[in-house]
Amino acid sequence: MNQPDVIVIGGGPAGSTVSTLLAQQGLRVELFERETFPRFHIGESLIPETYWVLKRLNMLEKLQQSHFVKKYSVQFVNAQGRESAPFYFWDNKPHECSQTWQVVRSEFDQMLLENAREHGVGAHEGVRVMDVIFENGPSTPLGTGPSTPLGAGRAVGVRLKDREVRAKVVVDASGQNGLIANRLQLRVWDPVLNKGAIWSYFEGAYRDTGRDEGATMVLQTPDKQGWFWYIPQHDNIVSVGVVGPFDYLFKGRGKDFEKIFNEEVERTPAVKKRIEGATRVTGYFATKDYSYRTTKASGDGWVLVGDAWGFLDPLYSSGVLLALKSGELAADAIVDGLKKGDTSAAQLGQWAADFNHGVDRMRRLVCEYYAGFSFGQFIRKHPDLRGTVTDLLIGDLFTDRVDKVWPPMEAMYPGNKHKIPTWNAGVPIADAPEKANELFLPANLDRRI
Ligand SMILES: Cc1cc2nc3c(=O)[nH]c(=O)nc-3n(C[C@H](O)[C@H](O)[C@H](O)COP(=O)(O)OP(=O)(O)OC[C@H]3O[C@@H](n4cnc5c(N)ncnc54)[C@H](O)[C@@H]3O)c2cc1C
Repeated sequence: MNQPDVIVIGGGPAGSTVSTLLAQQGLRVELFERETFPRFHIGESLIPETYWVLKRLNMLEKLQQSHFVKKYSVQFVNAQGRESAPFYFWDNKPHECSQTWQVVRSEFDQMLLENAREHGVGAHEGVRVMDVIFENGPSTPLGTGPSTPLGAGRAVGVRLKDREVRAKVVVDASGQNGLIANRLQLRVWDPVLNKGAIWSYFEGAYRDTGRDEGATMVLQTPDKQGWFWYIPQHDNIVSVGVVGPFDYLFKGRGKDFEKIFNEEVERTPAVKKRIEGATRVTGYFATKDYSYRTTKASGDGWVLVGDAWGFLDPLYSSGVLLALKSGELAADAIVDGLKKGDTSAAQLGQWAADFNHGVDRMRRLVCEYYAGFSFGQFIRKHPDLRGTVTDLLIGDLFTDRVDKVWPPMEAMYPGNKHKIPTWNAGVPIADAPEKANELFLPANLDRRI
């Protein structure tokens, strides 16, 4: 292998995006993915703003020809079982981009990776990156917390099991694994979003018809401790998951995910009535400790994208959008930097401050929901802001225009409401050894999922 310009660690949506866009500009890119695709991944509901990155990736036609269910809206069911009117994306923005998809990630991620190959990316599956090679830095002791100066030096390549590969830039797109963030202790756990999730897949569960068939439903549990996602997929499958505070969902309830899931279904008639009579086609999946951000998106010769940079919460299905978007922004910064001969931290992360700010908007909407905010009530009181709320829900996060929703929202706060702590008020990874992102998969995983 000749020395590439850029090495990408991980072949999920973020890794495929950054590498495809770099290859489009004639750069030599080698991507290393530890798994062999297709592999399972959670994160099945896309939101409309993914359209613009998918367009740059030349993926739109492939998705339009795919069997993925078309998604036109999102709908909320409150703790009393009352349904909001659907938020139809098209009503807000009558453009092709307002139809998106409910994907099966094993298929979607493989399509993205194949597409990267078609653009000239050297994508290697079943190859784990063991470490990133840093050179010429002060010998910084590792494991001393986020105050550790980023003195690991310049990233110059990666170490595989049997060899080293060097490049001008290393992109970490390793997802929740967070290779560089862990090594340099950059991760800060979100101070509010300490949640877990349990989910499974059902065949023959209730489906709406027409343009509502592919709607994502968000159904609050009656005690408002958590919520269910309800994501209709192709082949008559529905992905159904419950999200709740980690302590509530897992502490003192053992690891019997089936039992916990069923208890939550029993408590939530709006979910129960939709899945009774359906056949469960997989076992139960669970995950925890997935909401965090990194204190730095880049260093000399390296940059983080997607979940390797941070993950918010699955409430508004923003994960893949943020993976695609950060992949796009990082690719543009790398192309620009390599032209100028500048691969400094400042150049590679030139997009990160604005990106952080945009993600803060989505985070605020997430935290408001968990603090009791009701979309229904808000829209009834401020029908003129329905479009702006929909803008946020489609992922149109990187513009000041949407900030006009906050003052009226604050005016509806109950008197005793506390200010939402910012993401970086959370616990640094070094100070919370008990926290670790984990994913539990059932045995005999069906390839359809
Ligand atoms: C419960 C839950 C529900 C979610 N629901 C949604 C949803 O409905 N919609 C949505 O948009 N998002 C959702 N998400 C978020 C979504 O899953 C992620 O944001 C998205 O997958 C991030 O993409 P990525 O490319 O950054 O990381 P990933 O998709 O995780 O890809 C990272 C890749 O890197 C590889 N890798 C890791 N370490 C190494 C290594 N050392 N060497 C080589 N390869 C490596 C991994 O095998 C993996 O393939 C959800 C997340 C959770 C936890």
